[in-house]
Amino acid sequence: MILCKTVRALQKEIKKVKGTNKTIGLVPTMGALHAGHASLIEAANKENDIVVVSVFVNPTQFGPNEDLDSYPRTLEADCILAEKMGANIVFAPTPSEMYPSRDMTWVEVSGDITKVLCGATRPIHFRGVTTIVAKLFNLTQPERAYFGQKDAQQVQVLTRMVKDLFFQLELRIMPIIREEDGLAKSSRNTYLSKKEHKAGLILYKSLRKAEQLFISGQRDAEKIVEETIQIIQSEPLADIDYVKMYAMPELTPIDGPMKGRNLLALAVKFGKTRLIDNTILEVK
Ligand code: AMP
Repeated sequence: MILCKTVRALQKEIKKVKGTNKTIGLVPTMGALHAGHASLIEAANKENDIVVVSVFVNPTQFGPNEDLDSYPRTLEADCILAEKMGANIVFAPTPSEMYPSRDMTWVEVSGDITKVLCGATRPIHFRGVTTIVAKLFNLTQPERAYFGQKDAQQVQVLTRMVKDLFFQLELRIMPIIREEDGLAKSSRNTYLSKKEHKAGLILYKSLRKAEQLFISGQRDAEKIVEETIQIIQSEPLADIDYVKMYAMPELTPIDGPMKGRNLLALAVKFGKTRLIDNTILEVK
């Protein structure tokens, strides 16, 4: 496995691959890799000849009072896991490699899709995500790029970006990987105290209950959301940022009984740690 720390080094490696007819799978990450990331790398390894994993804590997607400085950085362990799962190249640039000047080009998806849910509490977040992912797409020119359903809104925003900017690649979306107890794997789980981790299990429980309501025939989105909120509020350590349901793919409000695919998404703080989770409720 090759570790590239500069844009030039990565471009050199990509040029070599593009001279052959090998396919490239890209897995963008912020590092502190866990089983969720591993599942993406594994899928990329199965479906492509060359797997590039990027490890970059992207400053432009963090708000001023967020955890950019304290975000876990574990490059050595990340390289070991990435290689074990089949990565050929790990790209771990510095911020100045990715953002060489203060004046810069932004890639921004407009509309409700970036303003609801996480976009409401993290107003610059998705502009940072789309800008860095567009840069990574241009640098690695992958046939396929791998993202997790854990970040459901990110998936919808990136789908729009790929369509609007005519990126010639396939987005591959992988299911949410959870701890044995149900908590969705996240690099931020390391911030949680034991008590907070235990309290966080309420998220999984509330989503399972919402799924049960839906399976038993409930098609009133508001009722499902209300029930989900009530369950989460039964946990004293849970501080809700949002619990909402929107119609996919554009994350538009649900008018009347649910139809098609709907995203029930939540963000809840436990102490200083903000966790997100979601489920898709599909009327077939
Ligand atoms: P991050 O390093 O948190 O920015 O995540 C990098 C990629 O891994 C994103 O596409 C995430 O959606 C995905 N990911 C993170 N956690 C999980 C998980 N628990 N299950 C599946 N994919 C995940």
